[in-house]
Amino acid sequence: MKIASVETYLLSDKLEESFFFSQWAYAERRICVVKVTTTCGIVGWGEGYGPADVLEAGIRLLKPMVIGKNPLEQESIWFDLYRKTLDFARRGILVASISAIDLALWDIKGKFLGQPVSVLLGGRHRERVLPYATGLYFSEGEGLANRLACEATEYVKQGFKAIKMKVGLTIEQDLANVRAVRAAIGDNIKLMVDANHAYSLREATELARKIEKYDIGWFEEPVSPEFYHHYKALRGKTTIPISGGECEYLRYGHHQLLKNESVDILQVDICSAGGLTEAKRIAALASTYGVEIIPHTWGTGIAFHAALHFISNLEPVPGRLYNPDFYIEYDRTSNGIRERLTIPSIEMKEGYIEVPTAPGLGIEVDEGALAFYSGKKLHGTKTG
Ligand code: MG
Repeated sequence: MKIASVETYLLSDKLEESFFFSQWAYAERRICVVKVTTTCGIVGWGEGYGPADVLEAGIRLLKPMVIGKNPLEQESIWFDLYRKTLDFARRGILVASISAIDLALWDIKGKFLGQPVSVLLGGRHRERVLPYATGLYFSEGEGLANRLACEATEYVKQGFKAIKMKVGLTIEQDLANVRAVRAAIGDNIKLMVDANHAYSLREATELARKIEKYDIGWFEEPVSPEFYHHYKALRGKTTIPISGGECEYLRYGHHQLLKNESVDILQVDICSAGGLTEAKRIAALASTYGVEIIPHTWGTGIAFHAALHFISNLEPVPGRLYNPDFYIEYDRTSNGIRERLTIPSIEMKEGYIEVPTAPGLGIEVDEGALAFYSGKKLHGTKTG
């Protein structure tokens, strides 16, 4: 069996209402997915995290390096792609393009062997994971805190036991928002905040100290990802656990956060940090530092299912019989592509999401939705 073709699809969906966070506004969903087909006709799906048009260009560059290879040898393919792009892509979007191809190869391997990816990764430590709702972005107009409180209440009604909200507007507004959301959801729902590195160390410290009393599960990307030492300093100034990692690439980037004692929780993004192949190595590295992993997860059901399998395989803390739930990030902002692209659709039962048992990633792609969102009637950009 050899890799016969690599096709990319640029999916886009204009949002009816844009929403924003501390860095920019979302007015459109734009996602790059990749379809890898083997000479046996097995199809694998992958997805990258990052600017979709650049991801697609990256995959175009990598295509000739994978055509004709045995897709089951995903580690050696991974290394070959890494080595050949190392001089100009030690970090950044080309690593995300490698990640997309890597996911597709794991999907193929699972389908070829008739096993779910979580089993191929080494085995399932859990059959279900606890989703936390990512939402509570900013919107224009008066009454933001009230709107956020209403949105948070909806998530609780839907069965979520944990919710993450955006901060990073101003300390005063963040404080008002957090206060309103905590009052609306009560004491039994876990609440996290994410600044997307909006703050300086001084500002992040001030905000952390002011919201500590609202029982915050973690403070995500409080400061610039460049300042590993500021992450560490903040950990010493607040009781709130500090998290980060979605801007890091490869085991080498994540090692900076670990060796600098920057985070309590490492948030590797499988679709940009190097795929499942590299995420597994990053998990091993994090375990040697005793740092918990809760992946950053964005995009379509392809990325979400890759995260489900990865989390199922994460080692629990050794030395205890009953382990706590492992979390998965479940973006609840408007995303028609996520809702329609993959089958079966993501389903929450009694507050949990089950890890798929079907071979590969455990999803199929709806070709109708693919054509609709990519604007392509027949096939993607095909090579090979
Ligand atoms: Mg984040």
